[in-house]
Amino acid sequence: MTAPSSDIHDGIFDEIKARISTLQAGAPTAAPDGGARSQADVDGELAQLEADKTVLLAHWRTQDGVVATTAPVYARACGQPQPCPHVLGLAEKFGLA
Ligand SMILES: [Zn+2]
Repeated sequence: MTAPSSDIHDGIFDEIKARISTLQAGAPTAAPDGGARSQADVDGELAQLEADKTVLLAHWRTQDGVVATTAPVYARACGQPQPCPHVLGLAEKFGLA
């Protein structure tokens, strides 16, 4: 078995949560080049992160409370073995692939 650990889901979830927390905490937004992100930019990033989190959750669990020990776990949203391409895409986006 060389399938990636399902921990990839946890890793992405933690990364998204951390980024949301950072943005919501009003971390310094001044960029090294002197530019600063506007509130609209921050809001846009937050909306994108929330959308990514929704995708992650939709493609994470299959059936509530059911964990197959012998068969691959299939994502409920797309029916593909986990981690499915949607989650792998997020992992790549967040630098976790
Ligand atoms: Zn999927």
